[in-house]
Amino acid sequence: MLYNGPKCRLCRREGKKLFLKGERCNTQKCAFARKPEVPGKYGKNSMGKKTEYHGQLRAKQAGKRAFNLTEKQFKKYYDEANRREGTTTDNFIILLETRLDNAVYRAGFADSRNQARQLVSHDFISINGKRAKTPSIQVKIGDKLEVKKSDSPLFSGIAKRKDNSPNWLKVDLAKLVAEVVALPEAVECEQIDTQTIVEFYSR
Ligand code: SF4
Repeated sequence: MLYNGPKCRLCRREGKKLFLKGERCNTQKCAFARKPEVPGKYGKNSMGKKTEYHGQLRAKQAGKRAFNLTEKQFKKYYDEANRREGTTTDNFIILLETRLDNAVYRAGFADSRNQARQLVSHDFISINGKRAKTPSIQVKIGDKLEVKKSDSPLFSGIAKRKDNSPNWLKVDLAKLVAEVVALPEAVECEQIDTQTIVEFYSR
């Protein structure tokens, strides 16, 4: 089941910013910046537990939460990454990053992955001119993403923003279009420690 509780609590639990609340995450209102200790009665003490397993478990939880996936979904990506040819860590990050909802977020059309998922589900996004209402669709090199209903107030102000998209996307914020021009690399996804997550699942 997906976690529906307070999002900032997750960042404090994982000991790092997971950027789950859009713009707010980059302001002084960020709960993690103000109060970084683990939530709960034993929060401060539990930050001291640092076994190898504990570190791997936390890395896995942080990755799963950053991408807003259930345990079952996240593990499925690992299994698929492991099954494919090539390095499991590379495959894993490619599979996660090329989810349509993540690509919409990375392009800058949404402030968080959660918002991006809503945009996709509510038919705001097309791929190569065709409807794309499933957040888990894997985009591939050459795919062109476009925001439909771009006159919606949801997108006002985006054209004036700085383009912070990763190298694997070529984005035009003024036109609200993006093209997948390469495969994502782990270094471009700082919120997730792929190597440690792979170690967790391959124990
Ligand atoms: Fe909350 Fe975002 Fe800060 Fe995380 S990074 S604590 S979600 S404001």
